[in-house]
Amino acid sequence: MFNKILIANRGEIALRIQRACREMGIPTVAVHSTADAEAMHVRFADESVCIGPPPARDSYLNIPAILAAATITGADAIHPGYGFLSENASFAEMVEAHGLTFIGPSPAHMRMMGDKIAAKQSMGALGVPLVPGSDGEVATLDEARKIADEVGYPVLIKATAGGGGRGMKVANDPSELEEAWHVARTEAKSAFGNDAVYLEKYLDKPRHVELQVLADAHGNVVHLGERDCSMQRRHQKVLEEAGSPAITPEVRDQLGATATAALAKIGYRNAGTLEFLYQDGKFAFIEMNTRLQVEHPITEAICGLDLVREQIRIAAGHALGYTQSDIKFRGHAIECRINAEDPETFLPTPGTVEAFHAPGGLGVRVDSALYAGCKVPPYYDSLVAKLVVYAPTRLEAIARLRRSLEEFAVVGISTTVPLHQRIVAEPDFIAGDYTIHWLEKFVNRTR
Ligand code: ADP
Repeated sequence: MFNKILIANRGEIALRIQRACREMGIPTVAVHSTADAEAMHVRFADESVCIGPPPARDSYLNIPAILAAATITGADAIHPGYGFLSENASFAEMVEAHGLTFIGPSPAHMRMMGDKIAAKQSMGALGVPLVPGSDGEVATLDEARKIADEVGYPVLIKATAGGGGRGMKVANDPSELEEAWHVARTEAKSAFGNDAVYLEKYLDKPRHVELQVLADAHGNVVHLGERDCSMQRRHQKVLEEAGSPAITPEVRDQLGATATAALAKIGYRNAGTLEFLYQDGKFAFIEMNTRLQVEHPITEAICGLDLVREQIRIAAGHALGYTQSDIKFRGHAIECRINAEDPETFLPTPGTVEAFHAPGGLGVRVDSALYAGCKVPPYYDSLVAKLVVYAPTRLEAIARLRRSLEEFAVVGISTTVPLHQRIVAEPDFIAGDYTIHWLEKFVNRTR
């Protein structure tokens, strides 16, 4: 097992990883920017190292500074969390080149899945169903027109290097294609430094259903069930459920069997999430994330595993020690992503938190790095808390969510708690009847 783990992240996820390490008896090193000197993840760490000024590119993305911090503190492994360097294959290679362990998949698999075209091609070749669209990169507008005519409008132009819903544009008919093409490429170039795009049929009423998997270095692969992340705004997740209100145990087993067989074939290792769109009883793969997901706690709630602990054990070469039939799903879990944003305009609301009260009680988990007096800096992602509720049934989980949101108090900055309160009161949500387009319409209708 590792002697010391450096956590190359901040906020709630850095704390989350520290908690798992502490329970495993592994000391941790926090890294932080100058803006985060007083942050909770620094206060709670066994050791901490300042790695640069506030902008992420100078600190949390500063590879030499992070590797130096690991070397001077004697850490022998690095956990990247999510975001920042978590899907950077070159970083994983450099970590390994320094004789340290990267807690995640192999750089080759990160590279394969980080390129969405390569990911679709590899999964397609292994029998995983795909969203219809181009076979690979679409290099010219003429080619895009041809493929769009074949698959039928509306179509989606997507960045090969995409993430966080950026570099993605819809063309509803041929007249919108040229603009969508240029906008997607420009956005992709500025966000990812890579303007390669591909084309997919734009599905009109899918749910976003994703499958959590764990794989060890000994060829064992299991899935931990699905999460439904259809509650989205601008292609970004807002609220997630485990399991999906739209999936039966039979469908889950079938999807799980296809996905785990594919990953076993390529020798995938560590945690991963396969994302699908689910419409008319059919799954279509869109991408795989080779890291811990923000919404992992809802999976932990229904299957009773600590995913960070599993990631660390796998990276240390341990075998899973359980098989698919040992994994039992119990109850229902829901997560609300609480962002430091205005709940109406969605503009970020950085500032000082004057008071903070997290809900509690049976089946309630709050992962947050907020405390009274802390500053939410303007430089990073606006997620400040995850409210996770768990109950034996979905309706009980919704009742628990509603009362937990009432108890949630953040004074000093606006958050998206009121948005979640409105969502959980909606009959469509209570019925579990919503697709990836529902929230956008709801927000526009009720504005
Ligand atoms: P990112 O990596 O930027 O998150 P994804 O490929 O995971 O991009 O897609 C993010 C979201 O965009 C999906 O959850 C879904 O809501 C929407 N989306 C992606 N592809 C399609 C599609 N072909 N049709 C309809 N919606 C899509």
